[in-house]
Amino acid sequence: VFNVARFSLHDGPGIRTVIFLKGCPLSCAWCHNPEGMGVAAEVFFRSSDCVACGRCALVCPRAIGQPVAPRPDTSCPLGCQACVAACPSGAREAVGLRRSVAELLAIAEADRAFYDVSGGGVTLSGGEPLAQAEFSTEFLAACGRAGLHRAAETSGFATKETFLAFAEQVDLLLFDVKFMDPDAHKTWVGVDNEPILRNLRIAAAMGKAIRLRRPLIPGVNDSDEEMRSLAGLALELNEIRLLTMAGFPGGNSDKNPGEAGIGVDLLPYHSYAEDKYDKRGKAYQFKGLRPPDDSGIADSAGILSSRAVDVRIGG
Ligand code: SF4
Ligand code: SF4
Repeated sequence: VFNVARFSLHDGPGIRTVIFLKGCPLSCAWCHNPEGMGVAAEVFFRSSDCVACGRCALVCPRAIGQPVAPRPDTSCPLGCQACVAACPSGAREAVGLRRSVAELLAIAEADRAFYDVSGGGVTLSGGEPLAQAEFSTEFLAACGRAGLHRAAETSGFATKETFLAFAEQVDLLLFDVKFMDPDAHKTWVGVDNEPILRNLRIAAAMGKAIRLRRPLIPGVNDSDEEMRSLAGLALELNEIRLLTMAGFPGGNSDKNPGEAGIGVDLLPYHSYAEDKYDKRGKAYQFKGLRPPDDSGIADSAGILSSRAVDVRIGG
């Protein structure tokens, strides 16, 4: 787990606790959560905060016994995080802690009163929850038994069997569709979109509540053709859902507040992640890219809404 955000208003209905899991099989060039890319525990390092005291090297198993202490880099292969407590300046930050299902459930249940008054619940995010599919499914099942509404922010990139087990434990899927064009998907995201679209159709056939999410990257995936294609997908999924939801095993839960049809959330690109890449010691391909302007966002939204797709800006 690399973060837990309480009182979130942007990751599903009502007030929510959002749990961010490490690990992602995708490699989106614009990823705004680089701390969620790798599944292992990491240490981020901000060189501007380092006072060169050398204390990290005294506790680091990589440094002990070495004639010259290794540079305190951020892509540490061991990830023991011993250096974090030793660092007096806060230059080293632990990213990724192990948590059990019971521990996470206790965190989630602490805000039950707020969920009850707002129609909120728990949202599993990342990284990609399906990168730790067994744990995610188990945690979501535990939330279900506890009567908590469950949302998941996912790319849906998994085998059919893994996705089915996961989706059965989710009340609302916030499903990323980064590209409709298969070649562009492979180029910018690093994997085929075929399993993603297959699992999306499976979720629709299960009668799941779904919002499609499109991070809107200017000049990359916001073309008119992409928007028309995305609108076509939303309409197709609504048709599948309406035609097949009755009687499908693991079908729609009765805990899907206000999610009548499958619409699209447009998530305009922002540059907040640049600092995180610096701390991780990674190059950021989109450094300096400006967010889309209002008219560009409105054009994209207009193409979707002109085809009767429910569209929202942000999510
Ligand atoms: S995480 Fe552990 S192994 Fe890695 S730099 Fe820190 S102390 Fe050394
Ligand atoms: S302990 Fe912290 S401040 Fe000291 S050298 Fe290591 S990273 Fe820099």
